[in-house]
Amino acid sequence: MRNILIYSDNTDYACELLTAAHTIAGEIGYGVTALTINNDDQAEKLALRCGTIYRIRDEAILMADAAAVALVISEVAKKKNAPVVLLSSNRRGKEISGRLAHLTHGGCLTDVSGMTIDNGRLCCRRNTLGGATVVTQAIESDHKVIAVVPKVYDTMEEGEKGAITDIAVEAELSVIKVVEVMPKVKDSVDIEAAEVLVVVGQGMGSRDDLPIVEILAGHLKGAVACTKPVATDKRWLSEERIVGLSGRKCKPDLALLLGVSGQVQFVVGIRDAKTIISVNTDENAPIMTMSDYRMVADMKSVVPELVRAIERL
Ligand SMILES: Cc1cc2nc3c(=O)[nH]c(=O)nc-3n(C[C@H](O)[C@H](O)[C@H](O)COP(=O)(O)OP(=O)(O)OC[C@H]3O[C@@H](n4cnc5c(N)ncnc54)[C@H](O)[C@@H]3O)c2cc1C
Repeated sequence: MRNILIYSDNTDYACELLTAAHTIAGEIGYGVTALTINNDDQAEKLALRCGTIYRIRDEAILMADAAAVALVISEVAKKKNAPVVLLSSNRRGKEISGRLAHLTHGGCLTDVSGMTIDNGRLCCRRNTLGGATVVTQAIESDHKVIAVVPKVYDTMEEGEKGAITDIAVEAELSVIKVVEVMPKVKDSVDIEAAEVLVVVGQGMGSRDDLPIVEILAGHLKGAVACTKPVATDKRWLSEERIVGLSGRKCKPDLALLLGVSGQVQFVVGIRDAKTIISVNTDENAPIMTMSDYRMVADMKSVVPELVRAIERL
């Protein structure tokens, strides 16, 4: 039997990939299998959700080396008859995807946000033209490497009693040497989890206006996020607060956008918000056409006024 093989070093994403695999496996008559590399805890968790887990324990495989990991996955895919491999479309998953497609002589699609079977053909949905439109694409080659956007699919429910099978692969020793591992300093705010987002753009004009925006977000029980230039050019907020193509895709109940123009690369990260309110001095700013409520006004006067109004309640 042909199989879909899923792999992610992130256990949450691996559990989502199982759901993704199951949405297509039945229709094309494939089995679903999972791979773990040097992660026994993940193998146990996946075994509650998937029938066949291939577990590799080999300290010679350096997890920091995407080339080595891709080589291992390609070996397992070959041995276990898995022409379709699903990975997570995070930074690491994308790097492995390209390398794996090269090794398997297959095709590769990253940033995939949905999969369907159309006349036996595996079709993948992904954003294109900087997020301005959605396209459906299919890989023609037999071997397919598909990287799925995290959090698009739900976590696979527990249910199966899977078997964990230890396997060994002929992995080449890594040419990379890890000298030191340092934890990334994390922003304490998770903008993807926030139900209310107050997003500032370059229209804010000055970092000095940030405290009052933070007070407003606090009153609304929300978090402050930003457009890319506010974090990368101005450095007023951390890059973890960026909404959009190069940042986070957020689905808050309410998004209050202050001084944001609404370029496609930004919009792709906020268009799933339930309600969008925009404050912009330019009535023709692109964001105005996609906002539920729009205010043509200077955010410098609107924000303090809003704070005062809420405090009077
Ligand atoms: C490959 C690529 C990826 C990218 N990824 C992202 C991404 O993930 N996220 C992202 O945000 N951008 C991204 N960008 C950048 C994007 O194209 C835009 O440049 C960016 O979103 C614009 O940010 P902005 O709206 O803050 O600034 P601007 O476009 O400069 O808009 C500022 C807005 O503020 C308004 N304004 C000015 N003063 C005031 C005031 N006092 N009160 C109210 N409104 C005011 C103006 O009318 C204007 O509409 C990407 C670009 C590329 C090429």
